[in-house]
Amino acid sequence: MTASTETPRIQQEQAYYGGTYLFEAEATVVAAGEDENGAWAAVSPNIFHPKGGGQPSDEGTLNGTPVIPSRSEEGLVVLSGAPDNLEAGTAVVCAIDAELRKRHAALHTAGHVLGHLGEARGWQSTGHSHYPGQARLDFSPEGFEAELATPELREAVRAELQEALDAVLARGGAVNATTDAAGHRMVEIEGVNNEPCGGTHVATLADLAQVRVLELKIKRGALKVRYEAEHA
Ligand SMILES: [Zn+2]
Repeated sequence: MTASTETPRIQQEQAYYGGTYLFEAEATVVAAGEDENGAWAAVSPNIFHPKGGGQPSDEGTLNGTPVIPSRSEEGLVVLSGAPDNLEAGTAVVCAIDAELRKRHAALHTAGHVLGHLGEARGWQSTGHSHYPGQARLDFSPEGFEAELATPELREAVRAELQEALDAVLARGGAVNATTDAAGHRMVEIEGVNNEPCGGTHVATLADLAQVRVLELKIKRGALKVRYEAEHA
């Protein structure tokens, strides 16, 4: 490929990376078009978290019109359902559902802490979902069959996890995200861990409330740990 045939890379500032609590912003359209779902636009700075990493997408509006964010193959966050006739360079106003964002950030951050506690037991993480009402972490039960063999044993492990979780939350800790020049983002929870992540997080563990480990079950060869959390 020669330089002359390359599409110039569109710059989009991901404001949601640093601004979990940035619920409204003025922005500029950096790309727009139409696909099978109708009109779409990409704006910068972008406050919308697209679905990814087990976290659902934000809901919100562009100039008052409801839009659904998703990540394009090129890596842009695009807003489907955007008003027609937007062009690159147009100034727009964006807003997201603040309560939903806070709920997603709380569930997601609690998932980091619980995942760390599972790994501290030696469990290997195999997946996660942070959707409200169905949040869970999956681990491989391999090598831990004995401690997970019966409902009573799993309940005892659940209680231990809850106790460890309560201790971490009582201690508290700041949550900080940093993105390097190459675009790799790391999220550090003070006193817990530091891991690559593209989601939204609360500012400190004190922002979490009603964090509960609900149930451990073995399903289709996976250990599934269901939990819930709210934003304080
Ligand atoms: Zn995260």
